[in-house]
Amino acid sequence: MPLDATTLTTLTSEALQRCDDLAALTEEPGRITRTFLSYPMKEVHTLLSMWMREAGLTVRVDAAGNIIGRLEGTQDTRALVIASHVDTVPNAGKFDGVLGVMLGIALARGLQISGQKLPFALEIMAFSEEEGVRFALPFIGSKAVVGSLTSEMLEKRDANGVSVAEAIQHFGLNPFDMVNAKHKALLGYLELHIEQGPVLESKNLALGVVQGIAGQTRASLTLTGKANHAGTTPMNLRKDALVAAAQVILEVERFAKSLPNLVATVGMIEVTPGAGNVIPETATLSLDVRHLDNATRKRAVAEILDFAWQIARKRDLAFKHEIKLEQNASLCDEMLIGFLGDALEDSGRKRFELPSGAGHDAMIFADVTRTAMLFIRSPGGISHHPSESVSVGDTRAALEVAYLFLEKIASAPAIIWQ
Ligand SMILES: [Zn+2]
Repeated sequence: MPLDATTLTTLTSEALQRCDDLAALTEEPGRITRTFLSYPMKEVHTLLSMWMREAGLTVRVDAAGNIIGRLEGTQDTRALVIASHVDTVPNAGKFDGVLGVMLGIALARGLQISGQKLPFALEIMAFSEEEGVRFALPFIGSKAVVGSLTSEMLEKRDANGVSVAEAIQHFGLNPFDMVNAKHKALLGYLELHIEQGPVLESKNLALGVVQGIAGQTRASLTLTGKANHAGTTPMNLRKDALVAAAQVILEVERFAKSLPNLVATVGMIEVTPGAGNVIPETATLSLDVRHLDNATRKRAVAEILDFAWQIARKRDLAFKHEIKLEQNASLCDEMLIGFLGDALEDSGRKRFELPSGAGHDAMIFADVTRTAMLFIRSPGGISHHPSESVSVGDTRAALEVAYLFLEKIASAPAIIWQ
């Protein structure tokens, strides 16, 4: 039975009020900043454990500082995880990560109010770390749960020389207990998250089902010509690296626009010697290319590199490149995507799917279990900024659809989970 309208409304306003309450817990007065196991995270844990217990969950904190509320199922001890993160970037908004956790608790509360039982266990997780701000190491929380947090990662140090393991100890937890943070019996993973982009708003939709998280390639491209006097060197006798780089940047844009859902960005450029009266000798460009299909992404990178090489040859410049990061796409599970789409339609909304260009904890879980994500419209497409927002109506819609999704997988034959 779906949640009744009054309960949906009450749980929605409670979830949004709790986002406000957590926003007040910050390292920097007047701004929302909450990094991995920083002192405000203690109070976050106090509130979360209270809210989780009220929703009928049994609460534990693991060695990575994740806080987890569990509800036992009637048949299966494996858990469907509903999760997101409660750390933030510096000067953050109130909803990135936090809203997903608050909606997870609201779902548990909805089950409690309606008296509905699930055949499998439900675990609401609030990850201690996703953004990678303090240790330049993102996903510490979710990596601990899937068991991919290595001892080298625990030795990484922050700007004050404190290691991840020491931060865990200072928080009152035991880094040597990390082996027990690894989850032993997962059934699947669902993350509710603000879109942090403009697509849903441009389609006039409250919600979208995520197809997967785009893979990405990051590279650096260097064109090398010859520095010379800007006044005495005629135009036809120059080897200007920056002009060649400009052509490459335009091609990156043109090519990315030619393929659906491909995004490609030159975000940084470094020019030497870097003086107004000297012809540029080297131009080094960053390149960031993302797509849900790995082959498409790799082809795009190859074409852009080939174009840069041809420009260099035409202009008699040297060209080299270095691949800095190659990360494959993480696809969401077809069956769960289907259930989310059905839930959207059952609630009278349009079934709509989109890729995620940003990374999320879901991609860490995709290595070990089925994953799904539901995106909630971000007004203005704004995120990682104090003006990040979400509407009451869209939040209510997300809760309604996620609850329908829970009911759908609860009534699906057990055989499909084998
Ligand atoms: Zn997030």
